[in-house]
Formats: sequence, C-alpha cells, structure tokens
Amino acid sequence: MSEYAVIQAQPLFDRVHFTWMTSQCGVKGWYLAMNPWIAKALVLAGTVVLMAIRAPHGHRSRSVKVATSYKTPLETGLLVLAWVGFFLPLIWVASPAFSFAEYPLGTGTLVAGVICLVIGLWLFYRSHADLGTNWSITLEVREQHRLITQGVYHRIRHPMYLALALYSIGQSLVIPNWVAGPSNLIAFVILCALRVRAEERMMLEEFGDEYGAYSARTKRLIPGVW
Ligand code: SAH
Repeated sequence: MSEYAVIQAQPLFDRVHFTWMTSQCGVKGWYLAMNPWIAKALVLAGTVVLMAIRAPHGHRSRSVKVATSYKTPLETGLLVLAWVGFFLPLIWVASPAFSFAEYPLGTGTLVAGVICLVIGLWLFYRSHADLGTNWSITLEVREQHRLITQGVYHRIRHPMYLALALYSIGQSLVIPNWVAGPSNLIAFVILCALRVRAEERMMLEEFGDEYGAYSARTKRLIPGVW
C-alpha cells in the first residue's frame, strides 16, 4: 500500500473502531468508540422514513372535514411536548449541544435499537394504511368517520401508538446520549398516559356499542396483554 493510500484510509479507521471497555453504567463490552456517526445516520434515516410515511396522510387530512373536535388545551400541550421530543434527537445529530451527556454505544444495544426502529416504522406504515382518511393528529372525528377494526387494528386498538413506542425505544437504544436518547420516549409515554383514555371516551361517544364491542374483544397496546 502506498503512503498516500494509508493516509487516505486513516480517517475511516478513526471513525469505525470497536474497543473493549466499561461503559458509564459499569457494563463491560465492545463499544463503538467514536463520534457515533452510525447512530446519527440511523436517526436521520428513521426520521426521513417516518416523515415520508406521515406526509401524504397529513396533507390529505387537511381536505377531510372535521365533524367534531375533542381537542382540549391539554391536547395542544401534549402535541407541543411530542414535537420537542421529536426535535431533540435532530439537535443532537446537528450540533454538539448535548455533548456533556454522551456515553459509549454498545453493539448489542445498537442492534436491538435498529430492530425496534424497523418494526416501529413498519407498524407506523401499516396503521396509517389501515386508518386511511379516519386518521387525525389530535382527538377529532371526521365527516363519514368509520370505525376501523381490521388489519393491524384487529387485535389492538392503538397500533399507531405501539409503533411510536417501538420507534422511540429504538431511538433511546441507538442514541448514546442521556438527553437526546430518551427524549422521544419520555414525551411519548406522557402523551399516551394522558391521551389514550380520552381518545377511547371520544370513540365510545361517537360509535357507541360498536366501539364497546370492539373494546371488549381487543387490547390497547400489547396483543393479549394490555
Ligand atoms: N389510537 C390509534 C389512532 C391514533 S390517530 C392508534 O394508536 O392506532 C388518532 C385518531 O384516530 C383519533 O382522533 C380518532 O379519530 C382516530 N381513531 C382512533 N382509533 C380509530 C379506529 N379504530 N377507527 C377509526 N378511527 C380511529
């Protein structure tokens, strides 16, 4: 190898090397000791896919009239919180703002995170496809709203929330940073805790016994469990 080739190859080795070390939580293992560009690339790719899945539905939902809005000030607050949780990882990708909170990225954690991200994005795609024009970003009932009980809605009532839960768990595993890693997950847990019951009350009010029967034979988030 010529001297020139060695110099050219050097930056690559600098960026991708695994070392055997102990993490901040005292766990020994192989860690990606580097500026975690893999994590950054994954966060960017995940965000692009998530937005590409959502975009046509967001666009179309503007042309489907809202029959009844159940949006409260609490709902507005929850949406703002969700946006903050969504943006913090992007700030981490683009700037050193949270560099004080970095920790080494474990390979096992990285792989588990990618699996969660992929399953989450697939379920996000499927739940949008099944909900179709009945989807809203907040608590609203559309004109000619139909109750969907098929596809990924067959066994659970909130597959889109499960999708976002998996996606945010994936992000917290993939991002080796105590601020940007769990930000989406924290925002999402608060949103779910404060929204799911209100959404179910709304659906029961709108669809009556049909929703009652659907609730009786399904679970909320985890098939057969809860
Ligand atoms: N909670 C669902 C949907 C999230 S989108 C999920 O996690 O998959 C939120 C909107 O979807 C609500 O405002 C409601 O209008 C609508 N919605 C929720 N469940 C629905 C269902 N089973 N059929 C039709 N619309 C539904």
